[in-house]
Amino acid sequence: MGLRPNLLTRRTAGVATTTLALLLSTAAVGVVPAASAFSAAPSKATCAEPADTHSDARVKKGGVAKHDPNSLSAAQVRDREADLAAALRDRANFRTGPGAVTPLASVTIPVVVHVIQRDSTRAGGNIPDSLITSQINVLNQAYSGATGGAATAFSFQLQKINRVTNPSWYPIVQGSTAERNMKSTLREGGKNTLNMYLGELSDSLLGWATFPQRKLTSMDGVVVLNESLPGGSATNYNQGDTGTHEIGHWLNLYHTFQGGCGGSGDSVSDTPAEASPAYQCPTGRDTCSTAGLDPITNFMDYTYDSCMYQFTPGQASRMITAWNAYRAA
Ligand SMILES: [Zn+2]
Repeated sequence: MGLRPNLLTRRTAGVATTTLALLLSTAAVGVVPAASAFSAAPSKATCAEPADTHSDARVKKGGVAKHDPNSLSAAQVRDREADLAAALRDRANFRTGPGAVTPLASVTIPVVVHVIQRDSTRAGGNIPDSLITSQINVLNQAYSGATGGAATAFSFQLQKINRVTNPSWYPIVQGSTAERNMKSTLREGGKNTLNMYLGELSDSLLGWATFPQRKLTSMDGVVVLNESLPGGSATNYNQGDTGTHEIGHWLNLYHTFQGGCGGSGDSVSDTPAEASPAYQCPTGRDTCSTAGLDPITNFMDYTYDSCMYQFTPGQASRMITAWNAYRAA
């Protein structure tokens, strides 16, 4: 699972509900920055994201974002890396026998989009199809390297838009029984099918995702703030890169700030270590003494959509390796 916090302040008239118009500033509520939270064990620990210094920052009364569950503890990363190695061994053994499966070099991912709505209004989640097709275009640009990063093995094909009006699922509350019910009711396809759930989200979040697992569960998929789609109203986060980011997790990428400055970091060798998430677009940021500036333009950081435009070759390699371990037939 992984969350991307929604650190925006929305002033757009059409979305002027109090639950939307927030910006979480942890500095203002005196909580620790995320950099000190990586040793925390549980993936659903409640902890805070660092402050965004946007001048319009407002704090939801008593509100602190749940820590992004895609920011794992060191132990969780060790477990996941061991599982990946085991899954690859199993696949390799499978490939030596009759009917051996050849690893895939490129993949077209079928995408089923579930538009969760409270009612038929835009504020109630009724976003037009055009935003969804634009999102698919953004994904294909990002994952092909057309925006300036490495070309990955992946392309995306919209298979279906499923519109669901159900006020009890809106907003989508991360980790709730309602989320579980929603996904178990709606999820379609096999391990290779990307189920994307769009709606207003709890806890001022932009999105969250599940990492791949050997056993498919109905929870598998990504949840994305509807107004983060290209052309949506989520200022600074409305070019579709929340989708790009969450799908990165679904394809087994960690955050670039995973593990901070030490250890194996995000388990990718060509993303320089970074001590904590970067917000907005802090050009020249360099938080670790190891080589390289912070990868603030990487899709797996927390910067503005306008700031992030690339995956690295190492991330591309990690994604297709994980695909063949977990999601290939
Ligand atoms: Zn994330």
